[in-house]
Amino acid sequence: MTFKALVVEKADDGSTKASVQTLEESLLPDGDVTVAVEYSTLNYKDGLCIGPGGGLVRTYPHVPGIDFAGRVETSTDERYKPGDKVVLTGWRVGEVWWGGYAQKARVKADWLVPLPEGLTTQDAMAIGTAGFTAMLAIMALEDHGLKPEKGPVLVTGAAGGVGSVATAVLAHLGYEVAAVTGRPETEDYLRGLGASRIVPREELAETVKRPLESETWAGCVDAVGGAMLARVLGQMKHSASVAAVGLAGGAALPATVVPFLLRGVNLLGIDSVMQPYQNRVRAWNRLARDLPLDKLRAMIQPATLSDLPELGAAILKGAVKGRAVVDVN
Ligand code: NDP
Repeated sequence: MTFKALVVEKADDGSTKASVQTLEESLLPDGDVTVAVEYSTLNYKDGLCIGPGGGLVRTYPHVPGIDFAGRVETSTDERYKPGDKVVLTGWRVGEVWWGGYAQKARVKADWLVPLPEGLTTQDAMAIGTAGFTAMLAIMALEDHGLKPEKGPVLVTGAAGGVGSVATAVLAHLGYEVAAVTGRPETEDYLRGLGASRIVPREELAETVKRPLESETWAGCVDAVGGAMLARVLGQMKHSASVAAVGLAGGAALPATVVPFLLRGVNLLGIDSVMQPYQNRVRAWNRLARDLPLDKLRAMIQPATLSDLPELGAAILKGAVKGRAVVDVN
């Protein structure tokens, strides 16, 4: 039995090369559940793992793909039986472990969640890790008191995967969404997702000069980090929270502690990788309920395994709009 996969190989000089190959099923790693993968997607981390590795991949040859959705083929775990539809995100699958850029994957049952009712496997991967993380960020903001009547919510990196889903869900929930983008050409797209205001990236690109600016945002889903996150902290309303999701603009945080001390601002860290099962199910059910499918489908850029080397390089440059959904078959 064979299957197709995107395989990344590393040469002696340290360079990596990704290509679609046919593999024997006996090469699949150990695990409780073998899944016939239907769709995967593209995240920033996938860009790293398809390309130079970013310190995430331990052994080569490697099959990347940090998330997938598909149908259970065989299972030695009583929670899953053949034919069940399942979703996987996180747990370092596609980094340390072989991932979803393949027609088959074998993983631990603990890492899977059942496909939520109302979503197809393609919808689940249009959401993917990026959308799942956006929902975790929104849930964290809500758990810290965010409500639509508190004021506008800022989404940074809005035209990317996390930002697109955050924008669509927040708008659907009745929030006024201000979308930060460095790509003015995405304005119609972002307004279509429900953003009522577009904030050009340059407005927030300068490093902090005054630790406090006028109190503007009731909440923020931040996919960018760096100088932008530092600026945003000084613009939050009293007691408001920022969910720190990403580092598309840099890992440093050139901020002061003043917004925390004088305005009671909260900085909430969001990690999608090691989320406990119950919270995963909660987030997926919220996505099935609060993300309008027409908005989700408007974000999709269809792709195949052979498109991935090019798409992986593009996402590292911030040049992918919305959600690339990979049909692995
Ligand atoms: P995308 O590349 O799809 O989106 C990132 C967006 O950030 C871009 O589309 C762009 O938006 C903006 N951006 C890119 N470069 C810069 C820059 N230099 N300065 C300011 N803005 C920039 O990635 P994802 O949405 O998939 O992921 C976003 C971030 O979240 C990544 O850093 C990723 O690693 C992280 N992440 C974290 C997770 C977690 O568990 N914490 C899970 C998933 C992702 P625009 O063009 O609109 O300006």
